[in-house]
Amino acid sequence: MSIHARETVVGQPIEGLAPRVLVIGHGMVAQRFLELIDVHAGLLCVDVLSEEPRPAYDRVGLSNYFVHGDEQSMSLAPEGFFESPHIRLHLDESAVSIDREQRTVLTSEGREFSYDTLVLAMGSAPFVPSVPGVNAEGVFVYRTLDDLELIRARAQGARTGVVIGGGLLGLEAANAVSSLGLTAHVVELAERLMPAQLDLGGATMLRRRIEEMGIEVHLSTQTQRILETEAEGVVGLEVSDVDGPRVIVAELVVVSAGIRPRDALAREAGLEIGERGGVVVDPWCRTSDPAVFAIGEVACAVGKTWGLVAPGYQMAQVAARQIKAMTEGLEAETGDGFLGADMSTKLKLLGVDVASIGDAHAAEVGALELTWSDPVTHIYKKVVVSDDGLRVLGAVLVGDADAYDSLRPIAASGVELPGSVEALLFPATGAIGIGPNALPDSAAVCSCNNISKGEITGAVVDLGACDVAAIKACTRAGTSCGSCVPMIQSLVHSTLERQGITVDKSLCEHFAYTRRELFDIIRVRQLTKFSQIIREIGQGGGCDICKPVIASILSTQAPAHVLEGENATLQDTNDHVMANLQRNGTYSVVPRLPGGEVTPEGLIAIGEIARDFGLYTKVTGGQRIDMFGARLDQLPEIWRRLVAHGFESGHAYGKSLRTVKSCVGSDWCRYGVQDSVGLAVELELRYRGLRSPHKLKSAVSGCARECAEAQSKDFGVIATEKGWNLYVGGNGGMRPRHADLLASDLDTSTLIRYIDRYLMYYVRTAERLQRTSVWLESLTSAEESGLAHLQRVIIEDALGLGDELEADMARHVGSYADEWAQTLEDPEKLARFRTFLNSEENADPLIQYVPNRAQHRPAVVSVEIPSRDLTEVVV
Ligand SMILES: Cc1cc2nc3c(=O)[nH]c(=O)nc-3n(C[C@H](O)[C@H](O)[C@H](O)COP(=O)(O)OP(=O)(O)OC[C@H]3O[C@@H](n4cnc5c(N)ncnc54)[C@H](O)[C@@H]3O)c2cc1C
Ligand code: SF4
Repeated sequence: MSIHARETVVGQPIEGLAPRVLVIGHGMVAQRFLELIDVHAGLLCVDVLSEEPRPAYDRVGLSNYFVHGDEQSMSLAPEGFFESPHIRLHLDESAVSIDREQRTVLTSEGREFSYDTLVLAMGSAPFVPSVPGVNAEGVFVYRTLDDLELIRARAQGARTGVVIGGGLLGLEAANAVSSLGLTAHVVELAERLMPAQLDLGGATMLRRRIEEMGIEVHLSTQTQRILETEAEGVVGLEVSDVDGPRVIVAELVVVSAGIRPRDALAREAGLEIGERGGVVVDPWCRTSDPAVFAIGEVACAVGKTWGLVAPGYQMAQVAARQIKAMTEGLEAETGDGFLGADMSTKLKLLGVDVASIGDAHAAEVGALELTWSDPVTHIYKKVVVSDDGLRVLGAVLVGDADAYDSLRPIAASGVELPGSVEALLFPATGAIGIGPNALPDSAAVCSCNNISKGEITGAVVDLGACDVAAIKACTRAGTSCGSCVPMIQSLVHSTLERQGITVDKSLCEHFAYTRRELFDIIRVRQLTKFSQIIREIGQGGGCDICKPVIASILSTQAPAHVLEGENATLQDTNDHVMANLQRNGTYSVVPRLPGGEVTPEGLIAIGEIARDFGLYTKVTGGQRIDMFGARLDQLPEIWRRLVAHGFESGHAYGKSLRTVKSCVGSDWCRYGVQDSVGLAVELELRYRGLRSPHKLKSAVSGCARECAEAQSKDFGVIATEKGWNLYVGGNGGMRPRHADLLASDLDTSTLIRYIDRYLMYYVRTAERLQRTSVWLESLTSAEESGLAHLQRVIIEDALGLGDELEADMARHVGSYADEWAQTLEDPEKLARFRTFLNSEENADPLIQYVPNRAQHRPAVVSVEIPSRDLTEVVV
C-alpha cells in the first residue's frame, strides 16, 4: 500500500468570486455530494479537507483490499475529477475548529479557510470501549485502509485474532482476520450475532455456519480486559460469561463495538447535536445554522444517525440540490427532503449469505411471521407479513438469500403480494415465482443509490444499456454494496428478451464470453498464458471467477504445473497449496489410492507418516485415506515421505478427478462377473489430474448388485456378462441424480473411448462450476434430451468431434506428471511453503487437540482448553 506524502493538494488554484463551499471530510458521501453539485460548471468554488491521506475510496468494500491489495481500484473519484479550477482537495489536512461567526475553518496545518456554505461530512469513528489494555500494541479498529495495513502487519507473526463485537462490521473484521490465516474469535455481549439485523433464529443459524468455518463465537460474553506484555503487546483477552472469567490467547485484537458520529467539531461550534450524537439536520440537511449542512454518518436526520451508505447518498443528493438552488438565489426548500431510508442489507459474511429486510423483527402491530428453518442445510428464512397477509413487511434470510432480490423491492414499495410467499422463498417448489417483472416501476432496486426498476428498464430501452456495466455507468445502480447486481442483471435480461435481443451471458466483467466460448477461442488462437488471453480477448486484471476458469482451460490445452510461473496466481485457495484447508487452519493430505487398492507396505507407510506428524487418519467414502491436521510448513516433508513410498497427489483439492471407487469384483466376490478393481485402477490412472469445470467422481461395480454405487457418479461403470454398461451424469450430494445409461455391454477399449469423449466434451462445453448432472440436463433441447444428444456426439460421432476429443485426452494422459513430486524437486515452488518453515517453535497454542476415540481432533478452544493453561502465557 502506498501512504501518500503529507500536504498533498489535488487540483488547481481556485479562480473567480463564485460562492465558496467548504467540505469537511472526503469519504463516500462527500464524494457523492461533489459529483452531484456540478462543481465543474464553475458556479461554485469548492475546497475539500480530507483527514485521510488518499481521496475517497469504497469503504463498503474495505475488506476486498485484503483480497486484491489494489488501493487504486477502490478509489471513488473519477479520473481527472480534481483537475478543475473550481475544486481543490487537501489530503492529510483536518479541520480542527469552526468559527461560525467569521465563517472560517482552521486546519491542522494552521491554515484558515473561509466559506459561504459549510458541509460537514466527517462520517463516524469506531466506538472503542474503555476496557483496561485497549491501548496496547496489537489492538486495532476496522475503518480505514490504514487500519487494514496495520492489521495485516501485525497478523504476520500472529496465530490468533479476536474481534470484540459480533455485529455486521465485527463479522467482516473476523472474516478478514481469518483470511489472513489466523484463528478468529468473535466476542459479543448480546445473546446473538448481528442483533440489529437478525432475529434469534437467523442469528443462531449464522453462528452455526460461522463456527463450522473454524471461527469461534462467544455470545453473552463481556470483555474484561486486554492482556499485554511489554515485549509483545497484546497476548490475550480476559472475558467473562455465565461460567465466570476465562482467557482467550490472542496476539491481535480488533475492536468493532459500534460507531459514533464524529460530531465533536460541530458540538464545539455550538451546533445542535442529537440526543445520541450526530449533528441535527432538517429534511434538507441544514443544521441549526442555515449556512452549515451535514450529510452522511455524521448527521442526525429524522431523529437518528444512519450507519449505511444509502441514506448518506440520499442526503448528499438533497444537500447538493439545496445548495445549488441557494447559489441561484432560491432560499426555499427545493425538491423532496430526506425523510428516512430503507435499511435493508444483504451481504456475504464468511461465505454465508445473510440478508435483513425492512421490519425484520416484526415490530409492526399485528405483523405475522412465516419461518422456515432447515438445520441440515443450515438455511433459515423468515418473512414478516401484514396481519392480512397481503404485504411483505420484512424478512431475515441466512444461508440462502436469493429471495432478497424479489422481497426487498416488494417490501420497500409496499405493493400487494403478487403471488404466494412460498413462491418468493422457494422458487424451485414449482409455485409461480415472482420475478422482477411483477414489481412496479417505482420499486427501488438499488437502495444504496435509490434507483428504481423503472429507471433501470428505461436505461435499457432508451439508452441502449444492455449489460450490468452499462447500467452502472448510466444510472449508478449496483455501484455501491453490489447486492442488487443479480436483480439488475435479471431486469436487463428480461427487458432485452422482451425486445427480442439476445442476452449477454459473459463469464464475468473481464471476459464477454461464456466458459465454453473461451475454451474454443483459446484453442483456436492457441493462447497459452493468462496475461496474453486477457490482453487479447478480455479486459482489466481478472478476478476470482475468470482466473481459475482460465487456469483450468489452459491445463487441458497447454498442460503445465499448477504452480508454474503465472499459473500460480490463477489458482483457487486449495490448489494454491495443493492441499485442502480445514476448519482449524490446518490442511489435509490425501494420497491417491487408485481403485481403493493399497498394499500392506503402503498402509504401513501411511500409518508411520501419520503417526510421526500427529495426523488424524480416516478412510473416506471415496476409498482412500485422509490425513488431517498438517500445518502448511509440514506439507513438503509429509509429501517427500509419501512420494518416496510411491504415492502421488490424490487431487482432493482440485476441480478434477477425485476417485474411481470399486467393489472387489470377480477376483474375490462370488457374484462378480468382471474385474471391477482392475478397471477402476486403469480408469483412475488414465484420468488422474484432469482439470475440469467441477470435480469428477467415478465408480466401477463388478455386477448388477452395484456395491460401488456407480450410478451416483459423474461416470460409472457396471459389469455385465458381456462387458460393461456406462452410466453418465449421476450425482450424490445436495442434489442427488441417478445416472443415465449411455451405452451397454461395451468391451473395455470401446468403454474407454466413450469415456474419453464424454469427459473431454464435458471439459470443453460445460459452464463454470457445472457438475456433469446439471450439464447433461442443460444439453436438453426441444428436439432431444441431454442423454440423446450425448449418445449422438459420443457414440454416433454426429459432430465429427470424436477424434479430436480422443486426441485431447491422449495429450492429457501423455503429459500427466505428479504435481507434488515435481514441487519437491523445484526450490522455487517449495519457497511458497518457506515462510512457514521452522515454525515448530511458533506453533499456535490454539491449534490444540483433544482425544477423540483412539485419535484426536481439533479442540473447541473456549470449552476444551482450560483457561488456566492459557493464563500461563499472560503476564
Ligand atoms: C468495513 C466496513 C464495511 C461496511 N459495509 C457496509 C455495507 O455493506 N453497506 C453499507 O451501506 N454501509 C457499509 N459500511 C458503512 C459505510 O462505509 C458508511 O456508511 C459510509 O462510508 C459513510 O460515509 P461518510 O462519507 O458519511 O463517512 P466516511 O466514509 O467515514 O468518511 C468520512 C471522512 O471524513 C474524514 N474526517 C473526519 N473528520 C475530519 C476532519 N475534522 N477533517 C477532515 N476530514 C475528516 C474521515 O477521515 C473520513 O475519511 C461499512 C463500513 C465499514 C467500515
Ligand atoms: S457389485 Fe457385485 S461383484 Fe461387486 S462386490 Fe457387489 S456383489 Fe460382488
